[in-house]
Amino acid sequence: MDVIPERLDFLRSETLPPAQLTEVFTNAGEELYLVGGSVRDAILDRPLEDYDFATSARPERVTELLEGWADTVYPVGAVFGTIAARKGEHIVEVTTFRSEVYREDSRKPRVVFADDIETDLSRRDFTVNAIALHLPELRAVDPHGGLVDLAAGRLRTPMDPEISFGDDPLRMLRLFRFKAMLGFEPDPVAVEAVRSMTDRLRIISAERVRDELSKLLLAAAPGEALAMIVATGLSTQFLPELDRLSMEQDPYQRHKDVLSHTFAVVDKTSRDLVLRLAALLHDIGKPDTREFGPDGVTFHHHEVVGARMARDRLRELRYPREVVDDVVRLVQLHLRPHTLKLGWTDSAVRRYVRDAGSLLDRLNELVRCDVTTANKAREGAIKTGLDELERRIAELSAREELARLRPPIDGNQVMAYLGIEPGPLVGEIMSLLLERRIDGGPYPVSEAFGVVREWATARGLDDPGAYHEEE
Ligand code: ATP
Ligand code: MG
Repeated sequence: MDVIPERLDFLRSETLPPAQLTEVFTNAGEELYLVGGSVRDAILDRPLEDYDFATSARPERVTELLEGWADTVYPVGAVFGTIAARKGEHIVEVTTFRSEVYREDSRKPRVVFADDIETDLSRRDFTVNAIALHLPELRAVDPHGGLVDLAAGRLRTPMDPEISFGDDPLRMLRLFRFKAMLGFEPDPVAVEAVRSMTDRLRIISAERVRDELSKLLLAAAPGEALAMIVATGLSTQFLPELDRLSMEQDPYQRHKDVLSHTFAVVDKTSRDLVLRLAALLHDIGKPDTREFGPDGVTFHHHEVVGARMARDRLRELRYPREVVDDVVRLVQLHLRPHTLKLGWTDSAVRRYVRDAGSLLDRLNELVRCDVTTANKAREGAIKTGLDELERRIAELSAREELARLRPPIDGNQVMAYLGIEPGPLVGEIMSLLLERRIDGGPYPVSEAFGVVREWATARGLDDPGAYHEEE
């Protein structure tokens, strides 16, 4: 069975970077393998952004070898054995074989290097990420059945999941991130292990959790993976707001609870981090604002409460300030268009546009995706309302754009130039000047005075010799 795709053939040739890397390492008597996500994505025919290599060479030696070859060498992950380099437009990462990696957030951050690729592969997170291709001939080293799992679309840990997740609890979140990204099914044994040890995620740094969450959210349809994260209880460790949503009933939505509605909204929005985070968090204020009144359940001001909760949570997850601000604004504004029922005045439309600012398109999209009701009449009414709002925004901005148009000289200059008093004649010449601006775009002051002069001559007014334009 030859599963190695032709697109990796260039690695066998010696002319192209990063293929040249093989020569550099083999000439130095070191082993080099393509590994991990690069191998997985190449076989799945997914886009390859960078190349991950594993080598027998120790980091100091890797640095020397890369310095003799690359344009730039970055010792970014040197403590954990990874040296990155750029050659032309290619980024490569070369990591020394490892047997143990305890990261920054574990009790004793350190790394233990290994002498063979098999040991290295046994410490990786999932079998589909534990396939290596020996270079230059691309011979597959696959001790854990990764190729079979790749074909079956299955996520398994190379060793017992409890040991694997205990060694690095972030792998629990990566399990669901890869489910979302690759559409693969997590092995039930691994899911059980997650369920029994969710609290271990607590030791992982917010930054590592954030990066996995972001990658998960940018998958085509993250909803199912998110549902598993809540079902296993893993969310209690980094996004407990979601757990509370599953209890909320919302009679207006098709879904039996706010949580399923939330996942449906996430799946509908485009793959943009700010928009997806806003979709995920847009209703988290509901549990705290629920009230039962004569007309049923209400969630008054849940967008205000939710915006505040979103800010706290995103800060805790160490998202950059711009991301936090944008998501919070979207959560805060996501109900505004529904006041449409009351009728929109021009100033209400202007205020909406001003408050949304650069987020206007994303806000409109969020509001549209938020409609998941089963009631067709209601769905239609909301859609019509939103179409109307977008039409009003377009119309108003065109009108105001027009209102901002001015000819290059004003009425006072015209009066001074012609030596006339305010009156209908000034109005007549001003609309002539404005017409010209609308028809042909901006034109110079001298041309404007030319128009005034022509108009005055045609009208038989005295030659305005006493005045001259000021340039
Ligand atoms: P991506 O497409 O997001 O880059 P990836 O599989 O390349 O996916 P990385 O986080 O870049 O993921 O890691 C590269 C490889 O290193 C993985 O394929 C896996 O073999 C290994 N790896 C990464 N993180 C872990 C971890 N926490 N535990 C074990 N192995 C890991
Ligand atoms: Mg990678």
